[in-house]
Amino acid sequence: MSTLRFHAIKESLKHKPVEVDEISDKRSKLYGAKVFNSNALRNFITDEAYKAIQAAVDHGTKISHSIADQVASGMKAWALEVGATHYTHWFQPLTGITAEKHDAFFEPVGPGNAIEKFGGAQLVQQEPDASSFPNGGIRNTFEARGYTAWDPTSPAFVMGTTLCIPTIFVAYTGEALDNKTPLLRALQSIDKSASDVAQYFDKNVKKVIATLGWEQEFFLIDSDLANSRADITLAGRTLLGHSPAKGQQLDDHYFGSIPSRAMAYLRDLEMECIQLGIPVKTRHNEVAPNQFEIAPLFEEANLAVDHNSLLMDVMNKVAQKHNFNVLLHEKPFAGVNGSGKHNNWSLSTNTGVNLLAPGKTPMSNLQFLTFFINTIMAVHKHADLLRSSIATAGNEHRLGANEAPPAIISVFIGEQLTRTLDNLEKVSKGELTPEEKTDLKLNVVGKIPYVLLDNTDRNRTSPFAFTGNKFEFRAVGSSANCAVPMTVLNTIVSDQLRSFKKEVDSLISDKKMKKDDAIFNVLRDYIKKSKAIRFEGDGYGDEWVKEAAKRGLNNIKSTPEALKAKVSKSTVKLFADHQVMNEVELEARHEIELEEYMMRIQIEGRVLGDLARNHIIPVAIRYQNILIKNVTGLKDIFGAEYKTHAKEQLDLISEISEHISGIKVKVDEMIDERKKANNMSDAEEKAIAYADKVKPYFEEIRYHSDKLEMMVDDEMWPLTKYRELLFTK
Ligand code: ADP
Ligand code: MG
Repeated sequence: MSTLRFHAIKESLKHKPVEVDEISDKRSKLYGAKVFNSNALRNFITDEAYKAIQAAVDHGTKISHSIADQVASGMKAWALEVGATHYTHWFQPLTGITAEKHDAFFEPVGPGNAIEKFGGAQLVQQEPDASSFPNGGIRNTFEARGYTAWDPTSPAFVMGTTLCIPTIFVAYTGEALDNKTPLLRALQSIDKSASDVAQYFDKNVKKVIATLGWEQEFFLIDSDLANSRADITLAGRTLLGHSPAKGQQLDDHYFGSIPSRAMAYLRDLEMECIQLGIPVKTRHNEVAPNQFEIAPLFEEANLAVDHNSLLMDVMNKVAQKHNFNVLLHEKPFAGVNGSGKHNNWSLSTNTGVNLLAPGKTPMSNLQFLTFFINTIMAVHKHADLLRSSIATAGNEHRLGANEAPPAIISVFIGEQLTRTLDNLEKVSKGELTPEEKTDLKLNVVGKIPYVLLDNTDRNRTSPFAFTGNKFEFRAVGSSANCAVPMTVLNTIVSDQLRSFKKEVDSLISDKKMKKDDAIFNVLRDYIKKSKAIRFEGDGYGDEWVKEAAKRGLNNIKSTPEALKAKVSKSTVKLFADHQVMNEVELEARHEIELEEYMMRIQIEGRVLGDLARNHIIPVAIRYQNILIKNVTGLKDIFGAEYKTHAKEQLDLISEISEHISGIKVKVDEMIDERKKANNMSDAEEKAIAYADKVKPYFEEIRYHSDKLEMMVDDEMWPLTKYRELLFTK
């Protein structure tokens, strides 16, 4: 056995569950202990400053310099009490992860004296040295630098000894350089559009917030085992490895009891999350061995996005203590389930109503149906854009693969609501007759049960499913920053609601229709128009691929293809109309994502070439030499008859040769394709070359290597095997 693999297995066997102080009765007391939330605000800042922050959160009003100074001084006092020594502007650059640059509060003032300094100026704005963050040429074009600016809608928190202040990251010319800025703009847009529509039903609605509840899936792999494989450490996933004799076919991991080492980790992680104000609630095993899920209570979307980014960071930090590597990659292992991050999404009013939950009266149900049908219509109109919002190198492996939603966007709504929409579709055009109205009230709208959360009526194969009181966008990848799909979803629904209002208003004013009649007319129209996007069957089956093609729905498998929708004419117009992103910002993002894709495939290609040529081939040759020696030995003993004794060996020798040469030829061809692609200067052309010309070799090279894994003496095999990675508890 290679020394690396041997050492890794030996070390992994020493790892025991790490002791965690379970203070279960104190969870509620610890909740938010490290967050500068409204409790802390009340204790540490003036009433005036508190009100100003509330107004900024609720209405987006500006905060004055003197208020910022008051907030900063309170924030500093609180943070020092919680143990912070440094502060940082915490932001989400376009790399998808979080970034921070720490400055000490400590500041020397004159010889031998020092103070803890942090004022409004430090709170409100900072200039990180951001030249190395991807910006898709925005900063070069405008020769402008970026700065971070405080986002008062997401509370500051202390992680370790650092006060983290959530911020946006923008260029001096105003273009967004991060994931949060467009999200905040999209949320502002949907607040306006949804409030306007909700006012048809209730004049008291002044504000609508989007809510998000994510479910984070991930793998936990022993760190010594994971670190023994270059593909895991460099690419975040395995590029080689034969399936183990036992995979997930027994389904014995799903909802089974959590292994004790993982349990200790999850408990520790939860304690950290709770103190940071992340309301984690659920934890369970997932389908694949060593795969888990953690989910919080839903929150306002911007806060939920921050909390998910923070969670991914905390997961890695806590894992070190427990000798685990967290794999957030969408497909770390071939042949077993990948990981997703379901985005549960809804809209909620300042009056406390979930706009995607059926109500108790026909009127509230009409409101529900309005938002429900508009969402379906939005997905129908912008399916390609929605698809592009989840397009990454990692997710490309997952969509359409084992137990993952297909790359075809469709909406599942369940039997009951399908019937409701079928009935609504039948209402006559124009004014409704009194009989029709009574029928609608009693038999259609009035018949939607208040509680739709029927678990039997669930379709887990749909990429976008209605689940009783929210939509669940299931195609989001596990490593994604939720801000990206959430920006798109909220913008398309906002746009749809805006069109809806226009249409209804014009029926009321031009055709003198009654409000309810106008609403029914437009909804009926939408039900007809958006029918193609609705699918209730098995999204994993081949039948659906054919059926979807017949319906004219796209099935965009490749990432560079999917990304095209990010800069299409209609997208540019959509985002401009809602002031979410301008064309420069969209182009910049498109380029960054193409580059990111290309670089990921490039890294994988390099690692794969190295592993196959420098690790697998030499071992295969060494083993083959043992066989050859054996055959010559048999020849010495048996003379001409040796062949009957050496038949298996001879077969193996030639098979090994075949696979060795297979690897050699394919790796050489792959390198040639990589060279060609690297010479291309256009980002899209290059990404397409990597997708279509380079990446297909991965499977071919893997095929030969995985065959060799089954032939070569287990003792000699250099790479830690799937069974060792996946079944270590
Ligand atoms: P599942 O069967 O998918 O686990 P749950 O009811 O447990 O369904 O909810 C899953 C996720 O949906 C949780 O993260 C939860 O917070 C979230 N969720 C529930 N209601 C809403 C809502 N109104 N808006 C957004 N997310 C929600
Ligand atoms: Mg779910």
